[in-house]
Amino acid sequence: MIITPNYRLSKENTLALDVQAAYYVRLESPEDVRTLSRDEYFRTLPFITIGSGSNLLFVGDFKGAVLRYVPSEIRTLKEDDTTITLQVDAGANWHDLVMDCADKGLWGIENLALIPSEVGAAAVQNIGAYGREIKDVIRAVHYTDLRTGTDVRLPVSEIGYDYRYSIFKEPHMAYALVTAVEMELSKVPTPMLEYHGLAPLQGRTDLTPREVADFVIGIREQKLPDPAKTPNAGSFFKNPIISTDDFATLQKEYPDAPHYPAKDGVKVPAAWLIEQSGLKGAREGNVGTYPRQPLVIVNYGGASPRKIVDFSEKIQATVQEKFRIELTPEVRFVRSIELKSIDAL
Ligand SMILES: Cc1cc2nc3c(=O)[nH]c(=O)nc-3n(C[C@H](O)[C@H](O)[C@H](O)COP(=O)(O)OP(=O)(O)OC[C@H]3O[C@@H](n4cnc5c(N)ncnc54)[C@H](O)[C@@H]3O)c2cc1C
Repeated sequence: MIITPNYRLSKENTLALDVQAAYYVRLESPEDVRTLSRDEYFRTLPFITIGSGSNLLFVGDFKGAVLRYVPSEIRTLKEDDTTITLQVDAGANWHDLVMDCADKGLWGIENLALIPSEVGAAAVQNIGAYGREIKDVIRAVHYTDLRTGTDVRLPVSEIGYDYRYSIFKEPHMAYALVTAVEMELSKVPTPMLEYHGLAPLQGRTDLTPREVADFVIGIREQKLPDPAKTPNAGSFFKNPIISTDDFATLQKEYPDAPHYPAKDGVKVPAAWLIEQSGLKGAREGNVGTYPRQPLVIVNYGGASPRKIVDFSEKIQATVQEKFRIELTPEVRFVRSIELKSIDAL
């Protein structure tokens, strides 16, 4: 375990916000996690476990401990003629795993190529893209309970998966530090090409998972800014779900409004609402919406957290005024003052 005080987090969040953590704790083994859970001082500090920081907005300096679990091994748990079950450590890079599996001819996660994530966070977030969600391949998640130092294996049926949701996102579950994820992949072709963007691949009988992954990468590279060059945190807002009545009213004024059926109403793309509000490519100093995808807020260089928060609130207010629809952030706003210590959980 390596503990660094006053650690700059600019390389630990893809918005490249230059904030500091009072303590940055690099956890290099399961034993490190158990040791940390017994540390009396750590137990009194607010804390957060992070992956690659691609869904986080540090609103200011973090006056507590930022934990990062780095092990990244991949083990085979089970294998037969048609499937393989892998156990992957939480610190493994998600995209590298996708490409490694695709190159081995394994199906199941190829649609999720190029999502910036670590494997543990991917399971926490239930990442999804191009008609696939990681929950479809997850069999169990392993975590260490930081209150007791005990290791738990939670089967997928108990993780409460939903759209971009798992129970690990609940604030009271902050004690669960995810250490590994079990995934079942297929050795026989199981392409999922229903998503309209993948139509050019439909009907192909000779397709490999690598080709699907490469196709997805091609589309994503055209649409989304690379956080390494243009700092951002992906989709900043969730796609709002509105009532069917409200949608009927919206449709009267905008007959072509894009929409999708949802559990409790109708889902309207937040990107469309932002674009219709005249904010596609809008820029205020060093903050703006990405010209090719207005749902992404970009730090064009040296933006402060305050600037990004203000800009995001301006988008919310403009959309609210024009459509009377509330946009809620998909990005997690991190304020140490709102987080509990292990002893308080
Ligand atoms: C350019 C870009 C494109 C994106 N595209 C997509 C997309 O297509 N689909 C999609 O679903 N998302 C997308 N995202 C969002 C992001 O990639 C995901 O949310 C991803 O899972 C975040 O992973 P991370 O490792 O960066 O986690 P972080 O952002 O560091 O953390 C995310 C959350 O997980 C928790 N967490 C992290 N690690 C652990 C752990 N070991 N134990 C317990 N909790 C943990 C954190 O506390 C936090 O709440 C995109 C982001 C960017 C920047």
